[in-house]
Amino acid sequence: MIDFTFTEEQEMFRKAAREFAETQVASYVDEMEKTGEVSDAVVKALGEAEMMAITIPEEYGGLGLGYTERLIAVEEISRVSVATGMMLQVFALGIEPIVKFGSEELKKKYLPGLARGERLSTTAVTEATGGSDPTGIRSSYKKEGDDFILNGRKCFITNSHIADTITVLAKDEENPKAFCAFVLDKDMDGWKATHKEHKVGMRGCNTGELAFENCRIPATQMLGEEGKGLRVTMAAIGDVGRGGMVGVALGLQTACLEESIKFANERILYGKPIAALQTIQNKLADLKIDLEAGQLLGYRAAAIQDKGQRSSNEFAVAKYYTTEACQRAAKMAVDIHGGYGCMEEYAVSRFLRDSYVVGPSAGTSDIMKVIIGRWVLS
Ligand SMILES: Cc1cc2nc3c(=O)[nH]c(=O)nc-3n(C[C@H](O)[C@H](O)[C@H](O)COP(=O)(O)OP(=O)(O)OC[C@H]3O[C@@H](n4cnc5c(N)ncnc54)[C@H](O)[C@@H]3O)c2cc1C
Repeated sequence: MIDFTFTEEQEMFRKAAREFAETQVASYVDEMEKTGEVSDAVVKALGEAEMMAITIPEEYGGLGLGYTERLIAVEEISRVSVATGMMLQVFALGIEPIVKFGSEELKKKYLPGLARGERLSTTAVTEATGGSDPTGIRSSYKKEGDDFILNGRKCFITNSHIADTITVLAKDEENPKAFCAFVLDKDMDGWKATHKEHKVGMRGCNTGELAFENCRIPATQMLGEEGKGLRVTMAAIGDVGRGGMVGVALGLQTACLEESIKFANERILYGKPIAALQTIQNKLADLKIDLEAGQLLGYRAAAIQDKGQRSSNEFAVAKYYTTEACQRAAKMAVDIHGGYGCMEEYAVSRFLRDSYVVGPSAGTSDIMKVIIGRWVLS
């Protein structure tokens, strides 16, 4: 059995991340929710607090910390703002392929600026024809001398309009079984962010489309080997993507429990706070049980990864459990609030909307079950 007790440093890191979220993010939540835009002040604060640097190796200006610290940061920030947790989670997803598969030249070119939060990143895989099935994508490349020419469109991309460094997956125009992953930056011609989505929840996080038209990419921008790009992006989604969504879901579960406790203590019925009602206590207990179970699953998977083994299957279990549990938690929190839960002034109404947006990213619950099913049969 793997030991995943937090070290003293990790406990201190959590304290710092919580304080950061409460002092630097909380006051922007309403504004981001209303405008549907990521706050520049929050992005700046994330950079200054080194939240963008967590998983970047020290030699490239990062903190060189592990999956556990990243999970702590995403969880604590999502407790205050699911949208900001999501932004940070996909930021790390954009970095991972550069760290794991980028050449030394690419690492030196991009990682220091990303670590400082001066650059923002994302990973663009999904298309109208390929979400759960990434092999169904139609974005394609062809070789022209030493360059690749990319054409296509991506949809549902987090940080689409704010990222200036993106990892993009495309298919060989002539061989549908060969894929390449490239890192693109804002200085390159031939790609732009187009449509912005208006999501039911997680509104303060930017999601949209990217279009590539005869985008010329030097071969030096390729991640991993030519034809093997699917592995580059799917490995990042399996570890960092799923792991990050666990953090987002856990943060939301915690927020649901805390708001419910607060309301249950304040709302007086029959001359007593409703916290005295057994039914309310049962609901609070359910919230706590789901949260503890999710944390155990998530931090176990992160600890395995930090010990140098891959844990994308364990993350699939944790992602399934926590993203389903955060929907249960949000519904229960709204129920505990009675009619107040349906009013926008109460945060739990936002939690309910947010909880439904947490599910699909990095793979739906159905896909997690497909992965877990294959794992138990292997
Ligand atoms: C808020 C948000 C942010 C996102 N950010 C990004 C991002 O930054 N980058 C990126 O590349 N993508 C991103 N995505 C896209 C996300 O990865 C896809 O939405 C997800 O993979 C599902 O794909 P789809 O939406 O095309 O649904 P589909 O694949 O069309 O699925 C439709 C339904 O079919 C089910 N289904 C599909 N295949 C199976 C199967 N084999 N067995 C059983 N059921 C199945 C699904 O579970 C679902 O219920 C984001 C999505 C959201 C909502």
